[in-house]
Amino acid sequence: MGPGTLRSVRTHLRLGRLLGVPIGINWGVLLVSVLLAISLARVSLPSIAPRYPSSAYWFGAVLGVVGFLVSLVGHELGHSYVAKRNGVHVVEITLWLFGGVAKLEGDADDAGAEFRIAAAGPAMSFVMSGVAAGCAWCIDALDGSRVLVGLLVWLTAINIVLAVSNLLPAFPLDGGRMLRAVLWRRSGRKRKATRAASLIGQVLAAIMTAGAIGLLIWGDRWSGAWILALGLFLFVAARSQWQDAADRPELLDHPVGELQRALPAALAPQLPVRELERVFDAHPRAVLVPVLDDRGAVGSLVTRESVQRIPPAHRGAVPIRSLSEPIMALPRVHPDETVKSVVGRLGRGRSWWALVADGHGVEGVLCSEDVDEVLDVAMS
Ligand SMILES: [Zn+2]
Repeated sequence: MGPGTLRSVRTHLRLGRLLGVPIGINWGVLLVSVLLAISLARVSLPSIAPRYPSSAYWFGAVLGVVGFLVSLVGHELGHSYVAKRNGVHVVEITLWLFGGVAKLEGDADDAGAEFRIAAAGPAMSFVMSGVAAGCAWCIDALDGSRVLVGLLVWLTAINIVLAVSNLLPAFPLDGGRMLRAVLWRRSGRKRKATRAASLIGQVLAAIMTAGAIGLLIWGDRWSGAWILALGLFLFVAARSQWQDAADRPELLDHPVGELQRALPAALAPQLPVRELERVFDAHPRAVLVPVLDDRGAVGSLVTRESVQRIPPAHRGAVPIRSLSEPIMALPRVHPDETVKSVVGRLGRGRSWWALVADGHGVEGVLCSEDVDEVLDVAMS
């Protein structure tokens, strides 16, 4: 399953921690485990390895359920490990009815990391299928228990199914996330990519649902019901992601005053740069600090980057005046001006700052990066 998107699951049991990630299990998994154990002990194992006492099948079935849960956790640990390596915090791993979910805190901030995190789960499933197949081959060569060999062959197949089904390019499945990452890298627009991938996700989910209904009527009822539930679930998940990523063109008519960043209080020009550094530390979003002139009016500005021009050892002695730039150099916008109008005037995609002033005085600073973020949401 895809990391992070399924936030609805709350009722679960904490199992412990692996690689520092809390592992939880939803009650639905216990039900699936019981059904799985019964079908393994009564149907699958006796047909793979006939003429064993039923206690052997039940023992094998319990091992099979454990192996199944390990397969789900292993898949999610694959996502979690790569997420952590890419600086994305993993809140927890939960197992539930349709598999596992690695709950991540936010998305990766570049397409490459997103692709690697999504691909790591299926990759891990392929590795585990290889390990199970290798164990089956060894035990078979050593003339070990047929029940055990059958079980390992079954686990090999389960892991291949897990890997392949998650690779379907249906967002928010892993394959859909990989597709989104590719589209995101090509266009540079994450929301647009999410929109396209989740639309494909809805189409595939609809096809899956139709196929499941066909199976229910003419084929295997059990598989039909299972695929139907999965298809409907996937459709709802893809649709909600699609709606979340929808354009919001009304944002273009919002006043830029809503986007401005506050200006810290003006500083006297003779104060040392060290003082300026302290102000920037106290206001992490501030990009500029106003500087007073000799008559006590705001006449110039200093930027956050300019502090770096003074070596740390000299910051206690060099006055702020030496870094200040004239305030007239920056364009001005009115707080009631719309985002659309400001972008028309100052341009998109290049970096700028504008003073937000309403005629009485400067209220704050408008940064092009904040405007670009709104544009991205308004029209992907
Ligand atoms: Zn996955």
